[in-house]
Amino acid sequence: MNVRVRFAPSPTGKLHVGSARTALFNWLFAKHHGGVFVLRIEDTDQKRSKSEFLDDIYASLKFLGIHADEGPYFQSQRLCLYQEQIQRLLQSGKAIQQDGAVVFQVQPQQVTFTDLLRGPIQVDTALFETLVLMKSDGSPTYNFACVVDDAAMNISHVIRGDDHIANTPKQVILYQALGFSLPVFAHIPLIVGADRARLSKRFGATSVDEYRQVGYLPEAFVNYLALLGWAPGGNRELVQPEEIVQLFDLAKVRKAAAQFDQRKLDWLNSQYLKQTPIARLADLLAERAKAKGWLKEDYDREWMQRLAALLQDRLRVLEDVEEQHAFFFLDAPEYQKEAVDEFLHQDGVAQRLLSLRERLAQLKTFEASSIEEITRAFIAEQKLTPKQLIHPVRVAITGRAVSPPLFETMSLLGQQKVLRRLENAATM
Ligand code: GLU
Repeated sequence: MNVRVRFAPSPTGKLHVGSARTALFNWLFAKHHGGVFVLRIEDTDQKRSKSEFLDDIYASLKFLGIHADEGPYFQSQRLCLYQEQIQRLLQSGKAIQQDGAVVFQVQPQQVTFTDLLRGPIQVDTALFETLVLMKSDGSPTYNFACVVDDAAMNISHVIRGDDHIANTPKQVILYQALGFSLPVFAHIPLIVGADRARLSKRFGATSVDEYRQVGYLPEAFVNYLALLGWAPGGNRELVQPEEIVQLFDLAKVRKAAAQFDQRKLDWLNSQYLKQTPIARLADLLAERAKAKGWLKEDYDREWMQRLAALLQDRLRVLEDVEEQHAFFFLDAPEYQKEAVDEFLHQDGVAQRLLSLRERLAQLKTFEASSIEEITRAFIAEQKLTPKQLIHPVRVAITGRAVSPPLFETMSLLGQQKVLRRLENAATM
């Protein structure tokens, strides 16, 4: 089978998660069959097409690891081709001019085609509205340009969202009128939100770029998108992109709408984060910290790797590093008011923090084990419960009631910062 598929986004918005899944399924299908994946930019709507959206499409596909084997082709540069076919249809009387536009003369007929997922489909052309091919401004309509291009590009399989299924019978009669042979059609079900309605802004992020910014790893995101409507079998969920390519089977894509499940995506991402080599994780976290202005170009890579190792099992998304662990980078932590009230504003706490500070100041090396030893000895001597000291120290050091393991956190922060924070907290 000579597989040629295409992804045909319109640059009228950021790349939507649903479109990304369409791109991915096309790409997986092509790679699985050793075929060709063509990128075609459907930019004939001059008013709505924007170069920033085109850049976003490129960047998002790159993030997902989806590379075009051919293209990008731009419909705006192919107007001659559409003109040629319009002339053929006008000459044969299959289309006519109407108010400056070109309109297809739809004949009464039953249009039939087979959808790879849904089976045979039959539609009566009596249900069609006017089938415009060329608008009065000279630009082709989607249905017309799409057929001319899919035929010219020798597309073997048209894999696209369910939302286009009503267009397909119109495209089928255009194929027939132009004497082109039909590709195989496969309409994949929409992605819906928790309310079963089409995935929309109301349910958080809808563009790939937003997910990238929040810090989902590309392989986790690709794995998740693949699971939206497809399953590798055997209840497996964690499947690396290369293996998805091997296992992917378009015919096995489910017909029901796929529900977007943020919790599952988060779970997958944390699984991938746990498997990420520390050096890469450290680089990813460092990039985010640099973007915040928290790290300089010549930051301490060894320190960053220690931090990455400490955070690895605690991260859901990379953004957690900024949201929950800024205290590692800042001079002073941002103190959470409730944590301060609950753990620092208690009788005797200030004095304890200062006494512990005195002892920690004696340490020659600031290892987690020696910090722990000193702290535990102090707890025993003062006849405290561990919580009575550990919680206030945690708040003093991190500003928060929850943090990574305390002694390692203190060791990573370093003696100077720890001593300063204990002193400051004693006077809060
Ligand atoms: N430009 C259309 C879209 O983004 C392409 C549909 C198709 O794949 O035929 O929805």
